[in-house]
Parts: sequence; structure tokens; C-alpha cells
Amino acid sequence: MARYTGAVCRLCRREGVKLYLKGEKCYTDKCPVVKRPAPPGQHGVSRRKPSEYALQLREKQKARRFYGVMEKQFERYFDMAVRKKGVTGEVLLQTLERRLDNIVYRMGFGASRAEARQIVKHSHIEVNGRKVNIPSYLVREGDVIAVREGSRDHKRIKELAAAAATRTVPAWLSVDHEAMRGTVVRLPNREEIDTPVQEQLIVEYYSR
Ligand code: SF4
Repeated sequence: MARYTGAVCRLCRREGVKLYLKGEKCYTDKCPVVKRPAPPGQHGVSRRKPSEYALQLREKQKARRFYGVMEKQFERYFDMAVRKKGVTGEVLLQTLERRLDNIVYRMGFGASRAEARQIVKHSHIEVNGRKVNIPSYLVREGDVIAVREGSRDHKRIKELAAAAATRTVPAWLSVDHEAMRGTVVRLPNREEIDTPVQEQLIVEYYSR
């Protein structure tokens, strides 16, 4: 599957917020959003007031980059959200949160979503006892996500599990870091999703 391979810190600087794409570095003073908050490129901050369209586009890009999803797939998630019951913007974010790579990251078995995606792709994860190596797999309420038995001694995974014990896990997930497994207790509501976007603007972007 296609994925962005450029410098990820540029993406945060473009959006003007931390998207936590790098892992440990994001939590240090070395984060470029803290050191150089201006957008990348020689022209820096524009003095013009952004148009309504520009604001909607930026919110959509921000959400897409936060979860590491490409354009087409993001559009598919939006279509799914429109067809489901509920507030479209909230359902969209909930769907993005259900991605297996995001769940592995939220549980702490990846320092970033990109690392979590790699861990899933390398077949280190199982869902309800069955190997799943598709990062976009959508988990459901009650699913049990675990590091596979043969991967528990993997050096990086052990490091991540040890570091994860000090990380805050969202209330809608429960994790046993020692056993390297966790459960999706329920799906999150909007207040529990810390994605820094105004989802209504994304809905407006696709409703044009
Ligand atoms: Fe780079 Fe992380 Fe800072 Fe984003 S939040 S600019 S990825 S260090």
C-alpha cells in the first residue's frame, strides 16, 4: 500500500500542531513544532486570511496525517461514516480510532502509529487469538489484541511494553502490559478522542 515517505516533522509544521508521528522525539524539546513553529518552506507564514475552503482542507489533511491514512482510504472512511447512524464527524473519528495500527499504538505497543503499523505488518499481533497483519483492520468492541507468543521476546517489543507501562491508556481500552494484551472495552466517544481536529470542517469539505 502506498504511504508517505517524506520528512514527517514537515507535516506537523505545515499543520501547526504536534501530530506525534516520530515517537519519543515528539515528547522532547527537540520537536520542530516547538523549535520552529512556522510552516515549512521559504515563504513561512502567509499574511492572507485563509479561505473557508483552505480551513476545511487543512482539517482534512491534519486528520489524515495524524492517522497516517492516504487520500483514497480516507475518502472510504468518510463514505462509511455517512452511511452509519450518528454524527458523521464523530463516527469518522471513531472509525479511524478502530484501525488496528492505532489500537496497537494507543495500547503502547508502538512508539508512534508508524511503528505500530510496522509491528502489525510484521505479524507480531493477533486479534482474538488469530494473526492479523493488516494495519487498517477495524477492531470491534470486545476484541482482544495481543502480541503473539513468538514475538514476546522481541527486543524492541519488550522495550515498548516496558515503556508503555508508564503511558496513559485511554479509558475505552484496558491493557495488561505484562501479559502484552489488551481489550477494546467499548468504542470511544468524541471527548475521549484527542485528535486535534474540528471534524465538522472535514464534513463540510466533503459536502462541497
Ligand atoms: Fe516531529 Fe513529533 Fe514534533 Fe511532529 S510532534 S514535529 S513528528 S517531533
